Amino acid sequence: AKADGRNGYRFYTAQIQAHSDRMLLLDNALRRALERKQLELHYQPQIALMSGQVVGAEALLRWTHPELGAISPVEFIPIAENNGLILPIGEWVMRTATRQLSTWIARGMAPITMAVNLSALQFRNPNLPQLVTRILEDAALPPQLLEIELTEGVAMTHPLEAVAVMNELHQRGVRMAIDDFGTGYSSLSYLKKFQVYKLKIDQSFVRDITEDPDDKAIVGAVISMASSLGLQTIAEGVETEGQLEFLRARGCNEAQGFYFSRPLPTQAFEDFVRKQ
Ligand code: C2E
Ligand code: CA
Ligand code: CA
Ligand code: CA
Repeated sequence: AKADGRNGYRFYTAQIQAHSDRMLLLDNALRRALERKQLELHYQPQIALMSGQVVGAEALLRWTHPELGAISPVEFIPIAENNGLILPIGEWVMRTATRQLSTWIARGMAPITMAVNLSALQFRNPNLPQLVTRILEDAALPPQLLEIELTEGVAMTHPLEAVAVMNELHQRGVRMAIDDFGTGYSSLSYLKKFQVYKLKIDQSFVRDITEDPDDKAIVGAVISMASSLGLQTIAEGVETEGQLEFLRARGCNEAQGFYFSRPLPTQAFEDFVRKQ
C-alpha cells in the first residue's frame, strides 16, 4: 500500500509538471503567434428564426502552431488573459473581424452583424469606447453592426466601471450581448442598469431542452423575460431540429450552432451566406 501511495503521488506530480510545462510552452509560443500570423478568425453564422436568414456572425479565434498543431481557445485564452496578451490579441480580433465584415459588404453581402468576444481585461480599459470607435471608423462600418459579447462575470466583477463603459459604448451605437447567459452568479438587476441589447442563452441549457423539463422552463422563462424587457435573444449550441423547433415555438429571435454550421473560415462563410 505504501508503494502504491508513492507511485500515485509520483504520477500526480508528473501530471502537474506536464501541465505546467505545456502552459509555459504555450505562454512563450503565444507571444510570437500574432506576428507570425498563426492566429486566424473563423465565423459562425447566426440565424434569425423567423426568416431563416443569416443575420450575424460570431468571430472565434483559431491558433495553429507549426509543431503543436491546433490549440483550442479554451486552452489559450486563459493564458492570454493571464499574461496580458489578450489586449493586443483582442484588438487584432476586433480589427480583423470588422475589416472582414466591411469587405463582405463591399462585395455585395447583405449587411449582417459581427459579434466579437471581449475579455474582462479588455473591458477594464477605460479607453475601450474610443478604441472601438476608432476601429469602426477604420473599417468604415456603422457601429450598429458590431456586437460585443461579454459574460456576466466580466460585467459583474467591476460593476461601476462596467456601467460607465457600457453606457459609453451604447451612446456610440455599439450593441452588447451577455454571453453564456444564466451560468454566472450575478443578480438579474444588472439587466436594468446595463445597456444590454441581447441575451445569449448558454448551450448548457439548450443541450437537453427537448427532454429536461427544468431546461425547458429555464429557457422559456429567459425568452419571455427578455421579450418583456425589450431584449433580443439568441440560443447557442443548437445541434438538432428538435431544439430549433422548441426555441422557435417559444419566440427566441436567433440561433447559432452546429445544426446550421460550425464556425467557418472566411471564404466558406461567404459561400454559406451566398447559398442560403
Ligand atoms: P463562446 O464565446 O461561448 O463560443 C461558443 C463556443 O461554442 C465556440 O467554441 C463554438 O465553436 C462552440 N459551438 C458553436 N456551436 C456549437 C454547437 O452546436 N455545439 C457545441 N458543442 N459547441 C458549439 P470555441 O470556438 O472553441 O471557443 C471557445 C471559447 O473561447 C468561446 O466560448 C470564448 O469564450 C473563447 N473565445 C473564442 N474566441 C475568442 C476571442 O476572440 N476573444 C475572447 N476573449 N475569447 C474567445
Ligand atoms: Ca461568445
Ligand atoms: Ca457562449
Ligand atoms: Ca462559453
